[in-house]
Amino acid sequence: MKQRRRSFLKTAGSLGLAMPVIGPSFFNLREDKPLGIAMVGLGSYAKNQIGVALENTGAWKLTGLVTGTPSKVPEWKKRFPGIKDENIFSYENFDKIAGAKDIDVVYITLPNGLHAEYTIKAAKAGKHVICEKPMANTVEEAEAMLEACRKAGVKLAIGYRCHFEPFNLEVMKYGREKTFGRINFMQTNFGFRIGDPTQWRLKKALAGGGPLMDVGVYCIQAARYTLGMEPVSVSAQWGPVTDPTRFSEVEESISWQLTFPEGVTVNGFSSYRTNVETMFASCDKGNFEMSPAWSYGPLKGRTPLGEMNLPVVHHQTYQMNGMAPYFRSKDPLPDHFSGVEGLRDMKILMAIYEAARTGKVIAL
Ligand code: NAD
Repeated sequence: MKQRRRSFLKTAGSLGLAMPVIGPSFFNLREDKPLGIAMVGLGSYAKNQIGVALENTGAWKLTGLVTGTPSKVPEWKKRFPGIKDENIFSYENFDKIAGAKDIDVVYITLPNGLHAEYTIKAAKAGKHVICEKPMANTVEEAEAMLEACRKAGVKLAIGYRCHFEPFNLEVMKYGREKTFGRINFMQTNFGFRIGDPTQWRLKKALAGGGPLMDVGVYCIQAARYTLGMEPVSVSAQWGPVTDPTRFSEVEESISWQLTFPEGVTVNGFSSYRTNVETMFASCDKGNFEMSPAWSYGPLKGRTPLGEMNLPVVHHQTYQMNGMAPYFRSKDPLPDHFSGVEGLRDMKILMAIYEAARTGKVIAL
């Protein structure tokens, strides 16, 4: 793992990403002492992915839990011995987390519609935050989260794991170094066939929207980090509704077209009706593509030089190891996985919805 970590830092450095500062700018969070973290929301992503990362890493120690379902606690305590009873909170007494000295960071894995409320509460309690994607339901919520964290002097990261994952780091390099020439066009598609019709992902108040909010955000991210540019305008269209009961509150499918500087077009599609997960970039000197591109892997990709031959890793472990030094440092988080980046994505997601609603091209 140490070897992999060194190689990530090398890649990040070669990409010009902000590097953690080592030495005097570390504050009281010593490198030989794991960062204390509390999980807020003990659902599927917390249990099956971030939990695994926390088992794999020495950089973090799970020291707290926030849950509305006390029956989940014994399993977590068994899995992570040492969580103190006084560090188990409910949503009602969440504010008491302020007094837990061994919790440095809270990780919010709640439905999207609760991200803003608990990020703001965590900031007021003096805790740094990692919040899952999408950052919030609205641009206004995302701005309020950033403001609360700024005011409290705490850091706000978004769980953008692809910024720590070798295949995605590699395509960022292709874009920035123009390895296969200039990128002229990209296609980004992410969808899956959604199950349980009663789940929060189908409820506007809890999800903010449909597949665009849930997985389309990976398409937006991929376009922006591969091109290294910001889009200037967007048009969008709703897809057909084949199940009006299930999709009474959120879209079933949506397509969009982003225009970037230099005449680059990026087409996107996101859906809860079909399984699709591809990114394709047409460049002056050939094409590169990934499929699957963003799920937990193994990811696969091809370039004009052949198959992309990169390590297959547990993304969330890389994310947590990769984020740790930035949380130890006194310096602000680099933008690319912070709330600043989350807000940029939120503005684009909302512009896509506005474009689909109005039929107009929306300037960004
Ligand atoms: P989930 O439904 O499995 O878990 C949600 C948790 O929130 C549950 O423990 C639930 O009890 C709790 N909760 C608290 N209040 C709730 C309420 N009012 N309604 C519903 N649940 C409530 O969902 P999940 O798949 O773990 O997703 C959680 C977050 O993680 C979402 O923001 C999602 O976008 C994000 N996520 C990120 C990734 C990734 O790869 N980065 C993958 C999956 C999910």
